[in-house]
Amino acid sequence: MIRKLGILTSGGDSPGMNAAIRAVTRCALGNGIEVVGIKDGYKGLINADFVPFNKGSVSEILSRGGTILGSARLPEFKEPAVVDKACEILRENEIDALVVIGGDGSYRGAKALTDRGINCIGLPGTIDNDITGTDETIGFDTALQTVVEAVDKLRDTSSSHHRCSVVEVMGNHCGDLAVYSGIACGAEIVVTPETGYDEEDILERLRYLDNLGKNHAIVIISEKICDVEGLARKISATTGFSGRSTVLGHIQRGGSPSPKDRVLASRMGEKAVDLLVSGVGGHCVGIMNNEIISLPINEALSMPKTSRKALYRLFDRLV
Ligand code: ADP
Repeated sequence: MIRKLGILTSGGDSPGMNAAIRAVTRCALGNGIEVVGIKDGYKGLINADFVPFNKGSVSEILSRGGTILGSARLPEFKEPAVVDKACEILRENEIDALVVIGGDGSYRGAKALTDRGINCIGLPGTIDNDITGTDETIGFDTALQTVVEAVDKLRDTSSSHHRCSVVEVMGNHCGDLAVYSGIACGAEIVVTPETGYDEEDILERLRYLDNLGKNHAIVIISEKICDVEGLARKISATTGFSGRSTVLGHIQRGGSPSPKDRVLASRMGEKAVDLLVSGVGGHCVGIMNNEIISLPINEALSMPKTSRKALYRLFDRLV
């Protein structure tokens, strides 16, 4: 039986984490379980930086981006001795179980704690949509909306100046933000880890579009693929377009969560509490075919990435 539950957010933050914190808190309190907020991820856990939560502690946070608990990275948490220490601290504070909201690194920490007898449940909180075991992560929808708004604005000004905008979006080795926004914004070219990078091919395609008489072009590129500023310079030098690069950066992580993210986070938070109450630990929660599901963290982490071939094919058919 669980008497006291801890909740923390870890790794990169994402819009909707607060909705998950609220849902976990309220569902647990409704089950007669005490709730403790843990500040700054595993770092706060090691430092016993705990805040007792009541119903009011999570009032008016649903619409706020970021995480009221703060997030941090603690690379030392990979060391068994540090996880042992975390278990000791949890036991001293009579915290029986944890909900960890974060990415796959955070999931690994949750699994390590579960292996030592503290049941943990992971919730997928990241804008990148790069976690296997779920169709969508908390924060992806909001980040996509942010990217779409930015690219729409860039298109307005690009068409006034016969410009090609090269827009770098986040993704952490996952092309979802790029290909979804490419479809939603009608981009001319999308470059992701899945498509690979062929600079000459991009330049050739832009020359072709220029010859067709297009007065603007949008190229959306996932982060860590190329130097977008350098590519923009080459576009100016070798095509009829004036190339300009924009790195959207951390703007994509902020903002009020979309209704879809708020509902997703609330559903996942409820599921986390139900799993812990029924004695399950070491699982992560996901959404598949609009059903909230859970599966062992190890299984989720070793699943192949869902294929986006159909989305890339659609993108190609629409340009
Ligand atoms: P994300 O959770 O978004 O993938 P990170 O990979 O930075 O972000 O992981 C967040 C935190 O999770 C790390 O700072 C560390 O404290 C913990 N963590 C990451 N990998 C492991 C691991 N293999 N074992 C235990 N804890 C880990």
